[in-house]
Amino acid sequence: MAEIAAKVLVLGGGPGGYVAAIRAGHHGLGTVLVEDTKVGGTCLNVGCIPSKALIHAADEYALAVARAAGSPFGLSTGAPALDFARTVAWKDGLVARLNSGVASLLKKNGVKILRGRGTLLDGKTCRVDTDVGADTVRAEHVVIATGSRAAELPGLPFGGAVISSTEALSLPEVPRRLAVVGAGYIGAELGLAFAKMGAAVTIVEAADRILPSYDADLVRPVRRGLDAHGVAVMLDARAAGLDGGALLVDAPDGRRRVPADRVLVAVGRRPKTAGWGLERLDLDMEGPFIRVDERCATSMRGVWAVGDVTGEPMLAHRAMAQGETVADVIAGRRRAFDRRVIPSVVFTDPEVVSAGLSPAEAAAAGHEVKVGLFPFAANGRAMTLEGEDGFVRIAARADNHVVLGIQAVGRGVAEMAAAFGLAIEMGARLEDVAGTVHAHPTLGEAFQEASLRALGEALHI
Ligand code: FAD
Ligand code: NAD
Repeated sequence: MAEIAAKVLVLGGGPGGYVAAIRAGHHGLGTVLVEDTKVGGTCLNVGCIPSKALIHAADEYALAVARAAGSPFGLSTGAPALDFARTVAWKDGLVARLNSGVASLLKKNGVKILRGRGTLLDGKTCRVDTDVGADTVRAEHVVIATGSRAAELPGLPFGGAVISSTEALSLPEVPRRLAVVGAGYIGAELGLAFAKMGAAVTIVEAADRILPSYDADLVRPVRRGLDAHGVAVMLDARAAGLDGGALLVDAPDGRRRVPADRVLVAVGRRPKTAGWGLERLDLDMEGPFIRVDERCATSMRGVWAVGDVTGEPMLAHRAMAQGETVADVIAGRRRAFDRRVIPSVVFTDPEVVSAGLSPAEAAAAGHEVKVGLFPFAANGRAMTLEGEDGFVRIAARADNHVVLGIQAVGRGVAEMAAAFGLAIEMGARLEDVAGTVHAHPTLGEAFQEASLRALGEALHI
């Protein structure tokens, strides 16, 4: 049993933990990262990256299928085939490359990776159970980055035909009939991807619309995208259990049976707060999450927390931003995690982006708001990409035109998240966006035109 002394101990090697460790390494702080599976966490191994890989493969396949029936611009191809085992192997290859990339970044920055299960004995000591025994790490600072796990439904425990996103990303074949419980991020993204790969997909959602955390205008084109790919959507409906090969659903018109070979349950994620010694620390909590302040400090001196274990939105870039912040703070820099703009993207077809406040949120926050919306149907580039369904919408303060929020829905809009976030971070006014020369022909021109429209000066509508 080894005794290891460190300045910083990071518990969990996901985007929150590994970024904190790399940054601590930049500062020359002796850092140990404890991870019981693979570095990269949920995001790299069973989340963001593998899901986007499958979504890309599904997009390509669905496009090839569509092209086999012809296209408006004269292209037709033979009927395509999808070797799903190779799709999954390709996805695994990408994950493996990124895994070793993260491991070598940690090494390059002097971080010691301890592979094993960590249990905090107190606010400075961690026992790590590895394959070859137990080590003890003593550190001045502990960063908790244990992440989250998929939520289970009482009548539908994971196992057999009932799967979480983790199993959905490594299935042996495309299920013939897939029932998806939850039309949030995972349900909408993976439900559509499997439909594109040939599954008959039914999504069961408890709320009255898909993606209920986004406003109705924004999700309407996504619903049309699901419809176009034959995805059946049941709203105001709750999964009640399994009956043989069918999912039982309590729908507004009574109990229904949805025949399914697999049932993907995607009803949210829960912070991992059990099984690693939290009870010994007695930290202040905020609901199920560990309470942190703007420096990511918990209620115990020298104990910090980042990522999904600290609350919503449970997104990788939030975890990374907190990871960077906490290492800077430990190194003595004056820093705070500013959560004004954490953009969110839904990788459906079309995609959704939101940065800052929606018009309704801005109004609810007491602002008098000016809104400009520009449809992709009036954007030349969108037409050349066959992506006319969607729009860019901007909300700004009516008095001084400072931009409060920007949303978009459309093909390929995920990449616009950077411009939207930057505009808000830099305190842009409508005139700044409108006065920026945007390259032609690009989807970004719809951003400029939305600002012009809010000013009553749109040129192309
Ligand atoms: P995690 O990534 O969960 O990492 C925590 C790590 O801690 C894990 O590796 C775990 O093994 C380790 N750990 C926990 N307890 C211990 C212990 N006691 N000892 C040792 N190690 C321990 N977010 C986005 O921003 N964009 C996306 O496109 C996106 N897509 C997603 C798709 C799916 C299917 C899923 C499930 C999630 C997706 N997310 C996405 C969310 C994103 O994955 C999480 O927000 C992010 O991974 C959180 O990072 P984290 O570091 O807080 O925790
Ligand atoms: P989610 O919170 O996005 O959506 C869960 C959905 O399930 C909601 O629409 C909710 O109304 C519905 N629901 C809850 N209980 C239900 C029930 N009993 N029957 C039917 N519907 C029910 O959660 P998720 O899709 O599981 O994703 C988990 C988290 O992972 C997300 O919140 C997000 O933070 C992260 N994620 C992000 C991305 C991305 O950034 N593109 C992609 C995937 C996952």
